[in-house]
Amino acid sequence: MRILLAEDELSFQRLLEEKLSTWGYDVVVAVDGIAALQILQSEDSPRIAILDWMMPGMDGVEVCRKIREKVNEPYTYLILLTSQQRDEDLVIGMEAGADDYITKPFKHNELRLRLRAGRRIIELQNELLAAREIFRTKASHDSLTGLWNHEEILLILAQELSRAKREEKSVCVIMADIDFFKIINDKHGHLAGDVVLRATAGKMHFLMRSYDFIGRYGGEEFLVILPDCCLESAAAFAERLRLSVSNDCIDTPEGMIPVTISFGVAAYCKDRMKDAYSLVKAADEALYRAKVNGRNRVEVAPDDGMMA
Ligand SMILES: [Mg+2]
Repeated sequence: MRILLAEDELSFQRLLEEKLSTWGYDVVVAVDGIAALQILQSEDSPRIAILDWMMPGMDGVEVCRKIREKVNEPYTYLILLTSQQRDEDLVIGMEAGADDYITKPFKHNELRLRLRAGRRIIELQNELLAAREIFRTKASHDSLTGLWNHEEILLILAQELSRAKREEKSVCVIMADIDFFKIINDKHGHLAGDVVLRATAGKMHFLMRSYDFIGRYGGEEFLVILPDCCLESAAAFAERLRLSVSNDCIDTPEGMIPVTISFGVAAYCKDRMKDAYSLVKAADEALYRAKVNGRNRVEVAPDDGMMA
């Protein structure tokens, strides 16, 4: 683990650096408070620091205070090195945001144990952050396909619509629905059906631009959001999605299954289809026409001013 050692007294600094290295730490050294702060505020900074209280430029207490002023995530564990004997000084140090302190002179083993406690805190926080990340992913993603889930894709659509209004740009949505999915499930079983869903999602996701969004809207339905895209381009894109899904059969444990998919495309416009509801509804109606007109095709919602 990397550790910052901020200590202006050279002989003491060398001695500590050597000890820390022996204990397996990768030591970064600073000789004053300003350098220490810069290192701790840099990207990928050490997560644990030993800060001498008395240093030129900026003292250790001030470094603690500056670090704690900002949201510090992941957390940096700060240990103050002090020669101060007065209890009230220590209170100042701890209130400035130090996690622990150690008074010079000290036994090396004591420092070693304090560092071990600090590492434990850092490791616990790492686990907590990882757990939070997993929870966030689960809350916003569909577990089968890995795409955004129903709630999240609608939130994204609302955000993209307000952005489009603000910046006077376009947004298109595509509603996609796998053809005869119930028959696939009935004939090949639900496990094969799951493979079909995952593979279809994967094929479409692969074609997205980095700023497009695709979510699993319902059972075999997908909602695609294309920011800053006109209706013609969106229809052409839907056609590419259609081909990528239908060109090759999907390899499942029940054999190769041919899959086709239908699409309805609609564009945001500020008079009609101005909110998420009317936009999704328009795409849905276009999708319905794609189904009625034979499936495995793209239908586009009537553009501005014309009714279906
Ligand atoms: Mg000093």
